[in-house]
Amino acid sequence: MKNKIPSMEHSATSQEKRNYEDQHNTFISNLRHAIDNDELSLHYQPRFHAITGKADTLEALVRWHRPGVGRYYPGVFIPDAEENGLIFSLDLWVFERCCKDLKHMQTTINPHTKIAINLSVLTCESIYYAQKIIEISKKHGVLLSDFEFEITENTHVRDIRKVVSFCETLKSYGAEFSLDDFGTGQSPLVNLNLLPANTVKIDHSFIHGIGNSKRCEIIIRSLVNMIKELNMQVVAEGIETNEQFWFMRDTGCDQLQGFLLCRPLGLNRIASSMLYTPEIKYSAI
Ligand code: C2E
Ligand code: MG
Ligand code: MG
Repeated sequence: MKNKIPSMEHSATSQEKRNYEDQHNTFISNLRHAIDNDELSLHYQPRFHAITGKADTLEALVRWHRPGVGRYYPGVFIPDAEENGLIFSLDLWVFERCCKDLKHMQTTINPHTKIAINLSVLTCESIYYAQKIIEISKKHGVLLSDFEFEITENTHVRDIRKVVSFCETLKSYGAEFSLDDFGTGQSPLVNLNLLPANTVKIDHSFIHGIGNSKRCEIIIRSLVNMIKELNMQVVAEGIETNEQFWFMRDTGCDQLQGFLLCRPLGLNRIASSMLYTPEIKYSAI
């Protein structure tokens, strides 16, 4: 489900504008209801180690199932949630659900499983939410060292100092951070220099240039070299073809993620075989 409400043309009448606003307000109150009433769910997409093929980190991706309407993907509702201040409770809901799911995965699938969670930059600008995350992890008896928080480059960081102290607070409990969608933001090198991240995820728009654009390939190789010189881990996201897979493996990239290897799956489909027998998956590529 791509567009929940058609966007307004400049020539719209005031009645049309009122209708649009009404629909938008209803959408927001439905989203609020969804967060409070567990209508959201999580899918998990593994990140595979480039050489061993082991997958011990799973990225949590939120979905919204509206009864009688269908499934919404986060690209449709995260921007609204950010605009309307719902993103904080959404991110905390996701974290709490991940704590429960992680305990389940560690006991039934693999005791070394880690979860990567996408956090809005807005959430990361408030130390209050770092404290909430610590509180929730204690409540569920999980270790923050089993979590990595992905901060997207898509949203402009307004006050980087606040984000740094958010990260430092959670890092003191063992949590790790990654820069998501790297290369798409306004100041990727500033973020790389200042944010205490351990991992960089190269955006899929670069990966999709492999085989089509020599410039893209040069940029990717240089990015991987630079990131590795900084002693950070590199993840390539959005791997869809064999060519992209082998190119990224050849660059020395540490982890690979994408539809070619595994689509995001519900918790009940994250089977132990998928996490334990990746060499089978790799040999098939
Ligand atoms: P992201 O963190 O960069 O996640 C990757 C997105 O690319 C996911 O879309 C995933 O399903 C999709 N993807 C994975 N492999 C491939 C591939 O090979 N090809 C293509 N074309 N796409 C691939 P999704 O789930 O729709 O999420 C979109 C974005 O929404 C995420 O981008 C993330 O920024 C945000 N998001 C998702 N879940 C959460 C959440 O719980 N909280 C917050 N704050 N943001 C979230
Ligand atoms: Mg992500
Ligand atoms: Mg990304």
